[in-house]
Amino acid sequence: MKTIAITGASGAMGKETLKAIMASPYNYKAKLLLLKSDKFFATKVKCQYKDRVEIIFGDIRSYDDCLKLTKDSDYVLHLAALIPPKSDYDEDLTIAINYGGTKNIVDSIISLENRPKLIHISTVAIYGHRNYNHPWGRVGDPLLPSVFDVYATSKMHAERYVLESGLVDFAVLRQTGILYDNLLMKNISDGLMFHTPWNVPIEWVTARDSGRLMASIIDRDIENSIPHFWKRVYNIGGGASCRQTGYDTFDDGFKIIGGSVETFFEPNWNPNRNFHCFWFEDSNILNDMFHFQMESNDDFWKEFSSKHSIYGVARILPASIIRKLVIERLLKNQNAPMCWVQNNDIARVTAAFGSKENIDAVSDWKEFPLLNKGQLSNGNFDYESIKNSPTYHKLYHGYDESKPDSELDIEDMQQAAKYRGGECLSVSMVKGDLYTPLKWRCHLGHIFYATPYTILKAGHWCDECCAPLRKWNYDNLVPHIPFYQDIWYDSHAKGENYTYYIQNGLTYLQKESA
Ligand SMILES: [Zn+2]
Repeated sequence: MKTIAITGASGAMGKETLKAIMASPYNYKAKLLLLKSDKFFATKVKCQYKDRVEIIFGDIRSYDDCLKLTKDSDYVLHLAALIPPKSDYDEDLTIAINYGGTKNIVDSIISLENRPKLIHISTVAIYGHRNYNHPWGRVGDPLLPSVFDVYATSKMHAERYVLESGLVDFAVLRQTGILYDNLLMKNISDGLMFHTPWNVPIEWVTARDSGRLMASIIDRDIENSIPHFWKRVYNIGGGASCRQTGYDTFDDGFKIIGGSVETFFEPNWNPNRNFHCFWFEDSNILNDMFHFQMESNDDFWKEFSSKHSIYGVARILPASIIRKLVIERLLKNQNAPMCWVQNNDIARVTAAFGSKENIDAVSDWKEFPLLNKGQLSNGNFDYESIKNSPTYHKLYHGYDESKPDSELDIEDMQQAAKYRGGECLSVSMVKGDLYTPLKWRCHLGHIFYATPYTILKAGHWCDECCAPLRKWNYDNLVPHIPFYQDIWYDSHAKGENYTYYIQNGLTYLQKESA
């Protein structure tokens, strides 16, 4: 009987993962690391699954607790993270849990003689913002976590730690936005709901499909049917029927309570940049192996509305009342962009809108260009056709990707480094060996070691200047790094010259002299 260790089992994806693992024909045993505050959940799963589930009460910030979990396990599914909105309020705690916790999990596995295989859940947030110019993306695209998104920066460092750990049996799965049962309730209590730009391309996945994926990976692995799965990074997405824009998503959700985006929102309450998400050119890769994409966005909302008919009661209220009581009240929440404007938080306003002046530019839905209707501020956009063209504006990664991995050599490393504004200092490598670290130098002269896989295939670069944690200075970096330019200049003017940083919850903006 195989033992599956899970962190984050009480979260939206974790619950579905545990359910799918317990339903597998292989009769797994699960070991869960849970916080003491998850006692209710622990009692519930213990009642349901009896001896098939072992609970360890602890915290991933403790190495010893992590070791208790990983020891004698065959697989570790590392799902735990502090996610938005909670991560928006405490950057130190976010870094301690997301980066520190991952480090503890990895280090504890390394200390073991019989090492379990690790599946690390990363996030689409590490890619940063996309708009209509580059609505499609894939693993290997540049990583530009949005300004003040410490969730994303901490996850980017965590992922890199896994990639550079020397572990042999690992996989990194970058998870997208998850559709889950409690979604509406969770989102009507924080200003986070105003962070989503109306025109951002999003590919969702349901929590249930994600859980199905996790169980299927283990099932297929013990059948030895996925020899090429390990040592790689993947994007998780629900596929074609889960691709839409921010506007569509809110509209689907608001239909349940008898409204729409336009009855509840003003267009300028949400920023036009500094978010994350896009449509995955490569989310079929995991699906081809594990056949987990069963639910569309429509399926999700249909089931949601039949399960939660209580929300339907809201339909008897006039939309203006809901707008006032639920939505407008949240504009004053400290995580809402309108609150940043009110408080004159210039750093957050600049990061999100470009400038305060941009906010008032369009305040009427009639004049607001919507991507899902094929409208752009400077003309039309063939929305449906581009939504069906995964190679539209495909990003160049700085080397010949048509070469098989086994043919990649030092020339490819040098080319890729040059496209990132630096150089590969190693003079040789074993052709096709993507997992022995090489020596690199960025345009600022920082010297670092990283595997060819981490740099060419996973999109990471200098961990000193290009992996923000509490400080973002892309405006100064990007002119030197061609690899970043397409994405950054999609939503930033070349004249912007800011360094943003966050300390003890306070945000700062520094204008650099040109
Ligand atoms: Zn650097």
